[in-house]
Amino acid sequence: MKIAVIGAGSAGLAVLRHSTSDIYKNEVICYERTDQVGGTWVYREESGVDQYGLPIHTSMYKNLRTNLPKELMGFPDYPVPDVPESFIHRTEILDFLNSYCDHFKLRQYIQFLHNVELVKLVDKNRKWLIRVKDLRKNIVTVEMFDAVMVCNGHFSNPNIPKIKGQDIFKGQQMHSHDYRVPEVFKDKTVVVFGAGPSGLDLVLEIAKTAKKIFFSHHVDGTSSITFPDNVIQKPDVKELTENSVLFEDDSSESVDAIFYCTGYNYSFSFLDETCGVHVDSNMVTPLWKHVVSIENPTLALIGLLTHVCAFNVWDLQVRFVLQFWSGKKNFPSKEEMLKDENEEIRNFTIKGTPKKHFHVLNDKQDSYQKDLARIANIETLPPVIMSLFDECYARFFDNLIDYRNTKYKIIDDHHFVRLV
Ligand SMILES: Cc1cc2nc3c(=O)[nH]c(=O)nc-3n(C[C@H](O)[C@H](O)[C@H](O)COP(=O)(O)OP(=O)(O)OC[C@H]3O[C@@H](n4cnc5c(N)ncnc54)[C@H](O)[C@@H]3O)c2cc1C
Repeated sequence: MKIAVIGAGSAGLAVLRHSTSDIYKNEVICYERTDQVGGTWVYREESGVDQYGLPIHTSMYKNLRTNLPKELMGFPDYPVPDVPESFIHRTEILDFLNSYCDHFKLRQYIQFLHNVELVKLVDKNRKWLIRVKDLRKNIVTVEMFDAVMVCNGHFSNPNIPKIKGQDIFKGQQMHSHDYRVPEVFKDKTVVVFGAGPSGLDLVLEIAKTAKKIFFSHHVDGTSSITFPDNVIQKPDVKELTENSVLFEDDSSESVDAIFYCTGYNYSFSFLDETCGVHVDSNMVTPLWKHVVSIENPTLALIGLLTHVCAFNVWDLQVRFVLQFWSGKKNFPSKEEMLKDENEEIRNFTIKGTPKKHFHVLNDKQDSYQKDLARIANIETLPPVIMSLFDECYARFFDNLIDYRNTKYKIIDDHHFVRLV
């Protein structure tokens, strides 16, 4: 098969590693719009647009340490090197991804500074047309493929909620996508919107230098967290004025800056409607097992899931897809795949969970992994991955301030120990 891979972040690299292996032996071209591998782990001081006029992809900030221990952040056949810390600096993950790329000799398949502009199904022969721009030469070309793996990442396109008075507020407004260093909020009174993993981390980071922070959110479970004295929790916001924020409890505070930690929107602007993929409030359908396009199964989207052991799960998703594309397994019928997805959507909506959480796995991760492995007859991830993930997830809320000082060691496929 001739496979196109869009993006050379962790997901794209996992595709290259497996699709070119002795097991699958495909012809592969990976298009990467930046000049290096690593995707979101590539830190760039600047924000906004790059020299080619494209939005800066990365949302990485200078001081980031991983929110999962390195013991969970490797690939199944290529662990993160055994350094003393478990929660490591962003640079170590980028180094790791580069070393994965070199170890499996993947760079040869990547065309850097190539931006995919269009993916379209050409009906006559069921081939995929990809229109790509060589950014350096400013030349647009078209190439045909048998299959496409979309690995474009989902933490790039900021979600900024509409708030009454947003346009008249005179202070600074920033989304976490553009945040790099805490100095931007030094000595300022800031309102932070959103208490997802990024919001919680960033409140603690900017609290070290900001004057005061109003932390506005509706997440349960933060009442047990002891925040620094200059952080005051507030309910959701009702309205902004020129220099203040009115909250749902009718309290009002003067602020210098608004910091949106309100997440990201999935975006596949290059997928033509012939691809048959729809996004509604961050719910991407119709997809079999969150990965295979049900309309066109030679199209796969790797890495949509969140709250998972990312690189491990991408690896599993890739091997799952390749089992079908290589003919080792046959896809179920379109009706069966739709039935499967509809059942998942029904179970999900019965609980009243908003659509935007459809690809959030968390405690469903274990059964998801086992499901993929069973269906495609591939090796699943060792049970210790899930038990350590569960431990870390619980500790994140129990001890948000210090949990990154914990050190773990995986002993075998079933056991880990907490060293500190
Ligand atoms: C601030 C932050 C902190 C995080 N911390 C953690 C953590 O501690 N642990 C963890 O497990 N996960 C973390 N994550 C999640 C992280 O996104 C995943 O770990 C993982 O890196 C996602 O990989 P990806 O390959 O799917 O996407 P990305 O890494 O985003 O890579 C996508 C690639 O596709 C390229 N691309 C996009 N569009 C095109 C196009 N049209 N043409 C060509 N190329 C294109 C991009 O340039 C990019 O290189 C964090 C995310 C963020 C934003």
